Amino acid sequence: MNKALFIDRDGTINHDCPYCKDPKDLRIYDDAVDIIKDFRKRGFLIVIVTNQSGINRGYFSEAEFEKFNSALLKELEREGAKVDAVYHCPHRPDEGCLCRKPGTGLLLQAARDLDIDLNSSFVVGDRDDVDGEMARRLGMKYMIIKHNESS
Ligand SMILES: [Mg+2]
Repeated sequence: MNKALFIDRDGTINHDCPYCKDPKDLRIYDDAVDIIKDFRKRGFLIVIVTNQSGINRGYFSEAEFEKFNSALLKELEREGAKVDAVYHCPHRPDEGCLCRKPGTGLLLQAARDLDIDLNSSFVVGDRDDVDGEMARRLGMKYMIIKHNESS
């Protein structure tokens, strides 16, 4: 089985806009690049797990989400921080889905798809009530990172 770093996107890898959709607004944190490179080197798959309720709120389309994402992935890869997969939840909070973090649906789906052992995996995000809580529900190791805005 594989082990994975499950990493949040907005506010963790890139500056939160919020509801980022325009690739022009893409600004990646240096320390996120370092974290991804470090985990890759240690044999972890890198999997982004991200809430994107802006899709079902009608703020942007799936296609716009994909466009911003591919700009992000391309930039990360250029910096040596390749990402293996991206899982996103498009739902609004009121839709009651199982995938919106801190729900565990995205993680469980990725674990099934990519044969990931959650016990040897790791969660990194910027919000304890979202990313941290998701990890706690599955008994996983996690780290909440706070960027300083100039980085
Ligand atoms: Mg975040």
